[in-house]
Amino acid sequence: MTEIAASPGSTAAVATPATFRHFIAGAWADGVSGETFESVNPADGRDVIGRFQAGTPADAAMAIRAAEMAFPAWRATPAPKRGEILYRFGELMARHKERLARAMTREMGKVLAEARGDVQEGIDITYLMAGEGRRMFGDTVPSELPDKWAMSIRQPIGVAGIITPWNFPIAIPCWKMMPALVTGNTVVFKPASDTPHCATLLVELMAEAGFPPGTVNLVTGSGAAVGDTIVESPDVAVISFTGSSTTGKRIAERAGRRLKRVSLELGGKNGVVVLRDADLDLATDGILWSAFGTTGQRCTACSRVIVEAPVLEPLLDRLVTRARGLRLGDGLVEGVDVGPLINAAAVDKVRSYVGIGRTEGDLVLGGEPATDGELAHGTFFQPTIFSKVKPMARIGQEEIFGPVLSVIPVDDVDAAVTALNQTRYGLSASIFTRDVNAAFRAMRDLEAGIVYVNAGTTGAETHLPFGGWKETGNGHREAGHVALDTYTEWKSIYVDFSGHLQRAQIDNQPE
Ligand code: NAP
Repeated sequence: MTEIAASPGSTAAVATPATFRHFIAGAWADGVSGETFESVNPADGRDVIGRFQAGTPADAAMAIRAAEMAFPAWRATPAPKRGEILYRFGELMARHKERLARAMTREMGKVLAEARGDVQEGIDITYLMAGEGRRMFGDTVPSELPDKWAMSIRQPIGVAGIITPWNFPIAIPCWKMMPALVTGNTVVFKPASDTPHCATLLVELMAEAGFPPGTVNLVTGSGAAVGDTIVESPDVAVISFTGSSTTGKRIAERAGRRLKRVSLELGGKNGVVVLRDADLDLATDGILWSAFGTTGQRCTACSRVIVEAPVLEPLLDRLVTRARGLRLGDGLVEGVDVGPLINAAAVDKVRSYVGIGRTEGDLVLGGEPATDGELAHGTFFQPTIFSKVKPMARIGQEEIFGPVLSVIPVDDVDAAVTALNQTRYGLSASIFTRDVNAAFRAMRDLEAGIVYVNAGTTGAETHLPFGGWKETGNGHREAGHVALDTYTEWKSIYVDFSGHLQRAQIDNQPE
């Protein structure tokens, strides 16, 4: 078993495996129940990363209370000063980037280069939001009445409940916590139970950066015990959730009963369109990276290729040849292209979709768990490609969240756009073509929050809005300056310095 270095969040200086704690009101704390759970390396189930507090509703309630207590002083701290703490946190993340990335690969399996990218995304959003401390623009506009001032400002809402998945265990918590904090909210953070170590390392750096006690609170534990308590608490004003559509809908229903603000980033079924004039080598690069990077477990992963029939065979040949050459293994090992799935349940889910796919299309590559040699200790699955899939087939419609690609032939660009849009999701879409007219048509007509031209479906930059249409979300966006909308209330302020009563819409109007 691998040793874990000393960590303020753990109970042991050097131990195997260490036990980690919640972070509540500025202190590392054991849970009320004393129960813990393990986090294990998906590339090798014998490697236990640590034990984590199995949080209870009582733990979550303490964290919520701490965040409530910290809110007035944090809200009153000038936003540029809040931003300075974010800058310090960004610098700490940059300094510890390699350590965070290695911990991430070990805990959730993505290969090291991708883990470094995940941490970098966290750094990027932190610097962007630190700058918001000196922007956070409202409007100053002329009034319709004389001697009257009109403007709008953003104000924080209160305690933000941050509930995150395991697939971007540094980037996604940063996407959520940074805009929440810079705008003056305080945070209760519940990470996925598959990645509590990444969350702990992140919060350790936040504490070191100088976020005051209670502004950031971490409670590990299950969705049912900790997540539910955060969602149901009348003292949590806003929930930001990324995860499956099933969980997201449940959260929306319960929060809806309390008229609580909820931002949801949910599932996807992202597609790439390849037209007959496309650069097929470039398309192959983009599709492979999007379909099998992070083992197909990105929210923006490509799981459908919609291809004009005349180039089906040459594209398929390229995809199969190249995918066959991908090297599976522990993402910390140089030269490995594809890591494991997150856990055994994910292997079962992918395997069951492959069973469905065998009745819906031609299996041309993969289709089985990968168990050769050392892979037998982890949760690996072969890169899998189905051809001749119909647009409405289940494997063409449902989120599999694994290394399974469906290739869907169509007759022309109209059919391609229709097929791409025929899904209940709408996160990311792409088109490969050299025809500028077709590219603009796609930019206009593809129903997705992100559209790429001549690139795969993944790789969003943090200064643009990120989020999906239809059942991928509920209309909110992360990243970009629009992320502030989730965590702030608008206040419109009028100052009448005329010294007499002036009536908007009535005075200065014809009778
Ligand atoms: P998940 O099972 O829905 O879990 C997400 C988070 O919700 C975890 O922290 C989980 O805790 C928690 N949770 C579970 N039940 C809950 C409940 N009843 N109340 C409150 N919280 C609860 O999703 P996942 O498997 O971790 O993530 C994969 C999904 O995320 C995919 O569908 C993917 O498309 C989506 N995703 C979307 C985006 C996007 O931006 N659109 C980005 C990344 C991922 P436990 O871990 O303790 O169960």
